Amino acid sequence: MAKICTDAGHGGQDSSAVWQDALEKDLNLLYTKALNTELKKRGHTVFTTRTSDVQVPPLGTRCRLVNEHYRQQAPQFDLIVSIHCNAAAIKENGVYKAVSSRRGLYVIYSQESEASRTAAQTISKQCAAADIHLNHHGRLSTVQLGRALAGIHKTIPPAVLIELGFMTNPEELALLKSDTYREEMVKTLADGIEKYLFA
Ligand SMILES: [Zn+2]
Repeated sequence: MAKICTDAGHGGQDSSAVWQDALEKDLNLLYTKALNTELKKRGHTVFTTRTSDVQVPPLGTRCRLVNEHYRQQAPQFDLIVSIHCNAAAIKENGVYKAVSSRRGLYVIYSQESEASRTAAQTISKQCAAADIHLNHHGRLSTVQLGRALAGIHKTIPPAVLIELGFMTNPEELALLKSDTYREEMVKTLADGIEKYLFA
């Protein structure tokens, strides 16, 4: 059985993306809690960064804390999974306008970590096989990120950041809010995580 660290992105005063009546921090927490339940049900030990709507340090700081724990062997995570939701907007005449056409699930990893790349590719393949986003138009992908975004490149254990879908896409927002979809999503993510850890 594995030790997995999950992270519900943002929280407290940091809502991140807000679209219509949906806050990214709330969706992230909802999905992370469901994923925690699913992973525990499968016998894994789960550590998580927040279980309510509280402000936690930014992702870069969270990663540094993980590394301190890792060095002290308390605990040594097998994988870190940070859960987020996406939003797309363009600036027109000084005003941000949502771009509803962008869609799809992204599993983001650091190109500096071979293990993170394998984890991201395994999880995204599992999502594709489960037809998670029926109309992702090839956007279901792993994205190679350098130092600019996410901070996940600095962790000692492998880490992935999952953008579940676009809040600014009406179809995906409806899916993200659906209990059935959430159940299907967390099972698929757990399948992908297990495939990576035990393949
Ligand atoms: Zn986010």
